[in-house]
Amino acid sequence: MGKKIDTFSDKDELICPHCGHIEKIDDEVFEDCDLEFDDIEAECEECGKTFTVSRTVRFYFETFKKK
Ligand SMILES: [Zn+2]
Repeated sequence: MGKKIDTFSDKDELICPHCGHIEKIDDEVFEDCDLEFDDIEAECEECGKTFTVSRTVRFYFETFKKK
């Protein structure tokens, strides 16, 4: 208890907030999701506890000179 697990990841993986187990994200889990993404509930395959998954959508910018 009291051990803070950093569950933030910018890779395609979920980190269980209960035990720290790293689970690779299966693209199929999110295939139906677009920008209107609601938090989903996932179950850790290691400890069996459920947790909420929140996805942050990142935006990328690129600029061009006008022709
Ligand atoms: Zn776990």
